[in-house]
Amino acid sequence: MAALAGGGRALAGGTELVPLLKEGLVTAELLVDVTGVLPRGISDGTIGAGATLAELEVDPQVPAALREACRLAASPQLRNMGTIGGNLLQATRCWYWRLDYPCYLHGGDRCHAKEGQHREHAFLGNELCASAHPSDPAAALLALGATIRTDRRELPIAELYRLPTADDRSTTTLEPGELILELAVPDVDSSVYLKAMDRKRWSFALVGVAAARVGGETRIALSGAAPIPWLLESLDAATPLPGTAYKVEIARTLVDRAIAAL
Ligand SMILES: Cc1cc2nc3c(=O)[nH]c(=O)nc-3n(C[C@H](O)[C@H](O)[C@H](O)COP(=O)(O)OP(=O)(O)OC[C@H]3O[C@@H](n4cnc5c(N)ncnc54)[C@H](O)[C@@H]3O)c2cc1C
Ligand code: SF4
Repeated sequence: MAALAGGGRALAGGTELVPLLKEGLVTAELLVDVTGVLPRGISDGTIGAGATLAELEVDPQVPAALREACRLAASPQLRNMGTIGGNLLQATRCWYWRLDYPCYLHGGDRCHAKEGQHREHAFLGNELCASAHPSDPAAALLALGATIRTDRRELPIAELYRLPTADDRSTTTLEPGELILELAVPDVDSSVYLKAMDRKRWSFALVGVAAARVGGETRIALSGAAPIPWLLESLDAATPLPGTAYKVEIARTLVDRAIAAL
């Protein structure tokens, strides 16, 4: 914790951080290997942030939506290395951002995606930045109503994320050096995760739909839809770009299927 507080950067599975370091999109003087200190067990609705996606996808204690979201993410090699904590904090896959265009999210004043190719981008919450959040598990955890415990506080997963604003371009609310330790996932009656992809395997979500039913209430959350995992109230609020209108139709279909599956 001292090393992190001193400006070190947490390194878990490294599947996200190492490529970003190589590309120069992240710089760090000090990497702190947290794999040995992060909890990684799964029991009684608590999941250690160091659990890998591969561990989560096969554990019957894990709710169906989260298991399926992990199973459909990335590739077996990546799921064996990648942790759930790191997955929640992955950066956008927007290629303008990854190619270091001086776009809004990088602190500039325009969104290159809106002006250029954007078929994989957002159709909700896209007023300033049109990136689409890539985490499947985050949508599942949002629908399940999970909370996160860090070394400093507990917060609902919805509060881990924020839309970028003019004075703060970050998409999470974690403080520098703050470490996610555990996730608490409440019991639900049933849950499901459905994912539309360009390929059947090893593809980010064009749209991912997580749904969970608790008592009489159904919660639905989306991945691939907005710059952050999105708790869905109504698809009528969608603001698609010309190239992402097709995603709204996919989302409508997957939401119907998810509700039928519940
Ligand atoms: C080719 C490819 C395809 C992928 N496809 C998908 C996909 O379809 N769906 C999907 O959901 N994901 C996908 N991913 C993302 C993948 O699941 C994540 O890269 C992985 O889960 C990250 O975990 P990690 O432990 O390797 O994180 P790291 O790379 O170690 O860390 C990622 C970030 O999180 C921070 N961090 C890590 N752990 C903690 C913690 N406990 N507390 C605070 N900060 C922390 C690090 O400092 C870093 O900023 C893909 C990745 C790749 C490279
Ligand atoms: S979608 Fe967001 S990350 Fe991509 S170019 Fe626009 S501002 Fe940058």
